Amino acid sequence: MDSTVGAPQGVIPPHLLKGQKALVTGANSGIGKATAIGLGKAGADVVVNYVADRDSAEEVVREIASYGVRAAAYEADVSQEDQVVAMVDRMVKEFGTIDIMVANAGLQRDAPFTEMTLAQWQKVLDVNLTGQFLCAREATKEFMRRGVVPEVSCAAGKIICMSSVHQIIPWAGHVNYASSKGGVQMMMETLAQELAPHRIRVNAVAPGAIKTPINRDAWDTPQAREDLLKLIPYNRIGEPDDIAHAVVGLCSDLMDYVVGATLYVDGGMTLFPGFATGG
Ligand code: NAD
Repeated sequence: MDSTVGAPQGVIPPHLLKGQKALVTGANSGIGKATAIGLGKAGADVVVNYVADRDSAEEVVREIASYGVRAAAYEADVSQEDQVVAMVDRMVKEFGTIDIMVANAGLQRDAPFTEMTLAQWQKVLDVNLTGQFLCAREATKEFMRRGVVPEVSCAAGKIICMSSVHQIIPWAGHVNYASSKGGVQMMMETLAQELAPHRIRVNAVAPGAIKTPINRDAWDTPQAREDLLKLIPYNRIGEPDDIAHAVVGLCSDLMDYVVGATLYVDGGMTLFPGFATGG
C-alpha cells in the first residue's frame, strides 16, 4: 500500500464541541498545535499554551480564530506549579471556565543509561509527568467547582493525557522518557478511578511515530523512514492530525462512557510487527 497517503482531512464535525473551553499545553508545535486547531475546528474555544516562541503560538491562535471560535496564547512552563495555577486561573477569568484539558507538553533528553545525568532524568520527569499532574489537578478543581452543565456536555470535564507507545514498549537510550510515560499511564488510570464519580473523564492518547520536531531524526532521511516503516503495520508514518482526531473524538460526548482508557494511535506499532511473518 502507498505509504505516502496521509491523514484524512475534513473529517472533524464543526459543532461537536461547540461552547466548550479547551486548554492544550505545548500547543505551538507538532501534536499540540494540530490538536488545538482540531478542537477549534470542532467548535471549542481554545487556550494555546506555550513556553517559548510566542510568534508561533500567535500563529496557531490566528488559525483557530479563523474557525469562528475564541482563542488566546498563554505562556507557562507546565513543570512550574505557580505558572500552571496562574494559567488555569487566568483561563477561568477570561474564558469563564475550562471543560477540556489536554496535557500534551513533553520533551526528550536522550542518553545511554550510564551517561544520563540526573538533570536529564529530572527535566523529563518534571515536564512529562509532573507537568501533567499539575495541569490535571488545576483543571479538576474548576471541573468540581462547576459540575455538569448538560447543555455543554454530559461530563463535568475531560482530561486527555498525551502518553506514548513507550508507556508499554521499553526504549533503550531513553529511560527517562519511557519512565515518564509509564508514569503517565498509572497516573491517568488512578485519576480516572478517583474522578469518575465526579463525572470527570480522564483518558490518554498514546501516539506511535508521528512526524513532529521531537523525532525528526527518525523520519527525515529515506533510510530512517524505511527503517521506521518496518515497525508500522499500517505502512505510513503518523501525522499530528491523526492524534488531533483521536483527542477531539475522546473529548466529545460520543465517547461519554470511555473512562480511564488509553487509545493507541500508532498504525499498529504495538501489535508486535516483528511477528507478522512468523516468530
Ligand atoms: P514537539 O516538540 O513538536 O512539541 C512539544 C511541545 O511541548 C512544544 O510546543 C514545546 O515547546 C512544549 N514544551 C516543552 N516543555 C514545555 C514546558 N515545560 N512547558 C510547556 N510546554 C513545553 O513534539 P510533539 O511530538 O508534538 O510532542 C507532543 C507530545 O506527544 C509529547 O508529550 C510527546 O511525548 C508525545 N508523543 C509524541 C510522539 C511523536 O512521535 N511525535 C510519539 C509519542 C508521544
